[in-house]
Parts: sequence; structure tokens; C-alpha cells
Amino acid sequence: MKKQLLFALVLISALVLGGCATGSPAAPADTAAPADAAAPADAAAPEATGKLVGISMPTKSSARWIADGDNMVKVFEAAGYGTDLQYAEDDIPTQLTQIESMVANGADVLVIAAIDGSTLTDVLQKAHDAGILVMAYDRLLVNTENVDYYSTFDNFQVGVLQASQIVDALDLENADGPFNIELFGGSPDDTNAFYFYDGAMSVLQPFIDSGKVVVGSGQVGMDKVSTLRWDGATAQARMDNLLSAYYADKRIDAVLSPYDGISIGILSSLKGVGYGSAEQPMPVVTGQDAEIPSVRSILAGEQYGTIFKDTRELAKVTAEMVDAALKGEEVPINDTTTYDNGVKVVPSYLLVPHSVDASNWEQLLVDSGYYTMDQIQ
Ligand code: BGC
Repeated sequence: MKKQLLFALVLISALVLGGCATGSPAAPADTAAPADAAAPADAAAPEATGKLVGISMPTKSSARWIADGDNMVKVFEAAGYGTDLQYAEDDIPTQLTQIESMVANGADVLVIAAIDGSTLTDVLQKAHDAGILVMAYDRLLVNTENVDYYSTFDNFQVGVLQASQIVDALDLENADGPFNIELFGGSPDDTNAFYFYDGAMSVLQPFIDSGKVVVGSGQVGMDKVSTLRWDGATAQARMDNLLSAYYADKRIDAVLSPYDGISIGILSSLKGVGYGSAEQPMPVVTGQDAEIPSVRSILAGEQYGTIFKDTRELAKVTAEMVDAALKGEEVPINDTTTYDNGVKVVPSYLLVPHSVDASNWEQLLVDSGYYTMDQIQ
């Protein structure tokens, strides 16, 4: 009864606040979010489940998380769930407070993309004690027993695809080299960053071992190349230092970048020292998330490629997992070995990531309905 009342209150306050908690945040034109997940054709009036889903997203500074949040609200509401969507602006205490209030407000489910996957153990214990289902959403929750499932993409494969773009663009199989490269990793408090890096190195290491690829700075390993909070400005500052310390008198041929926001910082740094002209073409720079500024950069011949992870699919599979778990049905999972969070292996559903470059962006991103052509051009 208490839960029903709270659910009703949350719905009312969502209406009163004009969708403040659950509605679509306005995105600046440049970071415009992609298309929403499709609601079912007969979406008339979903039968209310009376269940409330707390959705905790890390930040609105990256369009992908805006899309994730919007898509989840859509698919959960279409399935009859109430939603409470919150963004923590990459501030760990804010995320903690938001999740604590979701628990206090009677959430039945938490879907969490953590800023730092190790900082939520206390609130997850409270959630578990209250019988709440906990889903790690595209970022693993670590050092806790109290995470039920993980929905994500094949993160190792993301890294494989990123490095394969470098292999293809430089024709490493056939060219003589040596080619100069630098490596950037993601945030060290996000386990995904290690999977991306390991996947990429599984492709690059043989070329480094044979001497065809040279890491000019010698900076190899996540302890040396990570980028706290996936911050583009931090990456740009590191790239500035690398260019002045190691590339004053030689060309850099490729930069492994794990995320589009980091790629933008790296590209600014490269432009700052004259790359991006006919005489000094841009090195091959990778990315991830197919964010609009990066898609435009690919079209302009600057960023080489990115990785498309369809957030509509991730929202859909997450809602299916939740729905099955709450109904006591078999939960769709396809991986029970990879994601050891330090306490247990979290049963996971891994979606397939796609490699995007100038040759296939339209087919993958526009024909699929993820973006309209107007958003990109
Ligand atoms: C996600 C990536 C994203 C990165 C930065 C990772 O956890 O898997 O898609 O690029 O966070 O937001």
C-alpha cells in the first residue's frame, strides 16, 4: 500500500513538475540526443504494474547518457512502470544522494550507470535489504554482492574494433612502417575502460612487438594512459604534452582514443600544432559512442571513426531483463563468465557494438533511424 501511494505521488509530482524528473532534458543542438526507442505500436495505455524504476545516470555532458535515460523512460513506461530519472553531473556524492532518495521513495528497481562503480556499496546494501532489484547499466558495479544483473555491450570487442580501425587505416598488415602511435584509456574507476584497452591491445600488441608500431612516448598500460572521468580537457592537456615532448620533429600517425569526448580534445590538440592540412594530414583518431560532434568530425575528414552502441537496444534489453526478473521468469542473459566485480560474476547481457567510419555512417546511424540527416548536417 505504502509503495502504491508513493508511486502515485511520484507520478503526480512528475506531472506537476512538467516532467522534471522523468521528461527529456533539453539537449544543446551540438549534443542532440538520438532518436528514442520505439514505443510499441499499440502503446495506448499500458497496464500499470505499480512498480517504480529509479534510473541513475552519470552525466548529461555526454549525449549518449541523455539518450540512454530518455530511451529507458520510454520503454519502462510503455511496459507499465513508473520512472524516476536522475543525472548526477559526474559528481559522486550527488549520485549517492540521488540513489538514496530513490530507495527511500520506494523504488522497486534501480538501474544504475555509476560514475565510479565502487562508491555505491552502502546504498546498494540498503537497496538489497529493501528487496530492490539492482541493474548495473553499461558500467559495472564492483565490490558488492548486491548487483543482480549487468546490461551492456561487448566491451572487449569495442576495443578490438577501435584498434582495427587503426590497422585498416594505416594498412598495418601490408605497409612497412614504422608508425608512431599514442594510446589513451578511459576512466580508471570504470571497469569498461580496462576492457576497451585490453581489447584494443589484443590487436595492437603484435604490431608493437614486431616494431611496425611504435608508442613514441613509451606510455603503455592503463596506469599510464587512463583519463579520469573520461574528460576531454584532461586528454587534450595530455596530448599537448605528448606532442611537445615526443613529436617536435616527427609525425604521429595514430591515436587510440576510447571515447568521442576524449577524441575531440585530442583533435583540438593536434590542430593546435598544425595537423589537419594537406601537408600534414590528421593522424588516425578513434572514438566511441557516435556522438554528433564526432560524426560531423568524421564527415569533415578529421576523426577517423567511432563505435556505435545502439542505446535504444540497451534500454530495451534492460527493461526486458527487469520485467522478467520481477515476474519470476527466466531473465535474458548471454554471458555468465566475463564480468567479475571482485565479489561475484555478474550475469550479463552483452549487445554487439558496430564500427563506424566515413564509409558506413549513413547506413548505421541514419538508415537505422538513430539520427535524422538534419541532426548531422
Ligand atoms: C561507456 C562508454 C562511454 C564512456 C564515457 C563507458 O562506461 O561504456 O560508452 O563512452 O563510459 O561516458
